[in-house]
Amino acid sequence: MKMASVGFSGLIRGFKGISIDSFNVKNLVNCSRFFLSHCHADHMENIKGFISKARDNPDLRLFCTLESSIILRNKFYRPNWKHQDKNALESVIRTLKMGMSYTILVPEHEYETNVTVLPAFHCAGSCMYLFKRNDHRVLYTGDFRFQKHELANIRALHENNGATIALDTVYLDTTFFKQASNHFPSRKAVLKMIIQEIDDFLEKFKTGSVFITRPYYLGSEIIIRALSKKYKCPVHVEWHAYKLYKGIREVFPFITTNARNTFIHLRTRYANGKQTIEGQNALQVHASAMWYARNGKSRKWIQRDDQGRVKIAHSTHSSRSELSEFIKYFKPHSAVAISIPSGYSQKEVR
Ligand SMILES: [Zn+2]
Ligand SMILES: [Zn+2]
Repeated sequence: MKMASVGFSGLIRGFKGISIDSFNVKNLVNCSRFFLSHCHADHMENIKGFISKARDNPDLRLFCTLESSIILRNKFYRPNWKHQDKNALESVIRTLKMGMSYTILVPEHEYETNVTVLPAFHCAGSCMYLFKRNDHRVLYTGDFRFQKHELANIRALHENNGATIALDTVYLDTTFFKQASNHFPSRKAVLKMIIQEIDDFLEKFKTGSVFITRPYYLGSEIIIRALSKKYKCPVHVEWHAYKLYKGIREVFPFITTNARNTFIHLRTRYANGKQTIEGQNALQVHASAMWYARNGKSRKWIQRDDQGRVKIAHSTHSSRSELSEFIKYFKPHSAVAISIPSGYSQKEVR
């Protein structure tokens, strides 16, 4: 298998006129069919440029899942948002259903391609795209996390007889393709660790507050749902997160903006405000894989600092060994890295 790294431009070989997760100026000139895998900022470069271009060009298209379309609207629609921009986005956005296949016309290059939408298990609304044109098959993973035992369940990547389909190229989420992140605990194991910490805390102090920090607004949905169900209370989130999640069924019923409604608070790492409430016992949990991937020395998935803060390696990206398993399982003819892990060069990833 060949492995190439291009510093991903949004373009995929063999599919002219299509741009994925990039709205850069060059692609706005050369493409008319835009795909979005999920709503993290690094996948929406220059999306405002796209929206203003859509004002003059209603034939542009932006494809994404229903959840991503809801998050996009929640993100951009404000009372002061220009009417023309709102209308422009509404006229070009097309939602795609998970697991379904569609025929997409690329008019300026006069061809049709088939695209299938697959779950990516990264954050609310996230998906992978499988493009098929003649015999050419390309998988774009976006950001994704799959464990080895889950691979056989990806229906669209298997023939009816159970064999894997022939893939020409995989555009692969290589965020954690480095030695220091060879393994991450499974999502289930992470939830178990967090719940154990909270149970221990409650047993020791009886009352108090739990503060969970996360690196981004999107991506902690399974933690929110699991803790809300387990402790039968909503999870307090910032206004911004509450607005983003509005209408997202898997998470919106489990959150609140009223800190007094609950003892569990979720916030970004960089949020302003104190992480503890004076005079109250507090448990602080940082759920992110960044610290673990950065620190090459300690190989413990859970760490405590001297102030009693707990760090847990919660990853929404595949670990290096999971990426290797993915490639070994599907055996694509070539793979392209769409992200470069911090501290590594493109050459090293290759
Ligand atoms: Zn992401
Ligand atoms: Zn990303």
